[in-house]
Amino acid sequence: MIEIDREKCCGCNYCTLSCAQEALTYHEYQIIVDLDKCIFCGSCVYYCPNTAIRVSRKD
Ligand code: SF4
Ligand code: SF4
Repeated sequence: MIEIDREKCCGCNYCTLSCAQEALTYHEYQIIVDLDKCIFCGSCVYYCPNTAIRVSRKD
């Protein structure tokens, strides 16, 4: 699963740019995750400067 902490997110968009699956979009001041595209690789977690994203294995 993937969780975005909206209190920590500053809207820098590093995560959306880092996602090769194009699973993240920034819309109306929050990150939206397309779970049909996300492969839970964790790249967005690595690039987020505010530790606002948590990803764990799908199962
Ligand atoms: S875990 Fe990987 S595929 Fe999923 S949103 Fe983050 S970068 Fe994209
Ligand atoms: S990288 Fe982190 S702080 Fe930046 S938009 Fe994504 S979730 Fe928010």
